[in-house]
Amino acid sequence: MLRETGHMGRNLEFVLASVDEYGEPAHNTTYKHLWTNGPKEVFEYPDYSFEDHFGKITASYAPRAAIRDYIEGRFGRIPDLKEKIRFHTVVRLVEYDEDNDVFHVTTADLKTGAMEHMDFSHVIVASGVFCYPNTPEISGIETFEGRIMHSHDFKNPEELRGQTVLIIGAGWSAEDIAVLGVKFGAKMIYLSYRSVPIGKKWPIGKGWPSSVHEHPMVEKFEGNTAFFKDGASAQVDTVLFATGYQSLFPFLDEKLAISKETSFYPEKIYKAALRIGVANHKLFFLGTHAGLFSFSLFDNVAAWIAKYIMNLIPDEPKSIADMESHSKKLVKRGNELKEFVSIATFQKDIMLELAADAGYQTTASELMQTFEVWKKYRTDANCVTNGRHVTESLQDN
Ligand SMILES: Cc1cc2nc3c(=O)[nH]c(=O)nc-3n(C[C@H](O)[C@H](O)[C@H](O)COP(=O)(O)OP(=O)(O)OC[C@H]3O[C@@H](n4cnc5c(N)ncnc54)[C@H](O)[C@@H]3O)c2cc1C
Repeated sequence: MLRETGHMGRNLEFVLASVDEYGEPAHNTTYKHLWTNGPKEVFEYPDYSFEDHFGKITASYAPRAAIRDYIEGRFGRIPDLKEKIRFHTVVRLVEYDEDNDVFHVTTADLKTGAMEHMDFSHVIVASGVFCYPNTPEISGIETFEGRIMHSHDFKNPEELRGQTVLIIGAGWSAEDIAVLGVKFGAKMIYLSYRSVPIGKKWPIGKGWPSSVHEHPMVEKFEGNTAFFKDGASAQVDTVLFATGYQSLFPFLDEKLAISKETSFYPEKIYKAALRIGVANHKLFFLGTHAGLFSFSLFDNVAAWIAKYIMNLIPDEPKSIADMESHSKKLVKRGNELKEFVSIATFQKDIMLELAADAGYQTTASELMQTFEVWKKYRTDANCVTNGRHVTESLQDN
């Protein structure tokens, strides 16, 4: 396993810059004071609960550092795992050599700069999808004289104190950063949505505080003034794009890549893992789906990939036609998802299918039950997911 960082749980690390100590794009996108926005019960691993890890019952919503500790704990139990990982090694290029049915991989040792070429029979791309910001163009933004940043670069809510902030996007990041802005003393916050406002009732049932205003899209900037589609305008100090990410894999030969658009089920992928029609079906993507059960889904996908590579899945490999037909159905279903219960059901179904193939003990059905209880609680409390158009959350997270 090649890993550019020095440990597990990269996205949960707190790093102050957008590039790491070696000048590489930082894959961590979390910020100080980040807590999970879903309860730990819907994403804990089937073989290692939070209670197993911490030795006691802990709160449902966990801070970033606790999740990271939990991940380290789960993988720390596997003997010699860390010895099998080459840390501080970045993959620069992955090419598939058709004549010899092998992947040529070029890596760089980040500490010494030494390049190395290695050959692999299979490649699993698990490089994360929260690294390359998606930033829409807005007319006149070049005349804006304040600070412009993406949520990827948002590190500390203290930075918002006393500021009038425009947050573009209406997904989970936008909502969370707006709440942090209020808590940490932002003077005024404008939220700009593409299709549906967040409409948060916060504190419960009372709506946004008077310092938060929601408007539709920004049509243009003139200097530091943003003009919204509804005719309103606001003079702001900081513009923060909470407009999501692109799934980019700059080290992959273009022929092998998949779409850079975030989705619930990427095209050209079989069983949520296998890249169809290239590299003799020895290339896999892990962790490219948006959704709700990230950890558990990716855990099931990982089990499936391992068994597939070892030829331990009955009735596999299938023909390309069968793979494509299976994939198309999931892409279609993924594109039609409109609200949170259907997303969760979709992911539960995928988990059950992969687990059945791989003989893996999944807890997908139990996770779904927990999710339904959680959703009801959130809806009753008029919180995050209530009344929101889910694709907005997907694209703007
Ligand atoms: C703000 C925010 C809040 C979130 N909240 C939640 C939540 O509440 N609940 C939830 O379930 N999920 C949440 N998520 C999603 C969750 O963090 C991700 O699903 C998870 O981190 C994905 O894990 P991963 O291993 O696929 O990717 P990552 O954690 O991004 O790990 C990818 C690894 O690959 C390495 N890498 C990248 N390129 C290369 C290369 N060329 N060579 C070598 N190594 C490379 C990176 O350095 C990194 O170590 C949140 C995400 C964000 C951004």
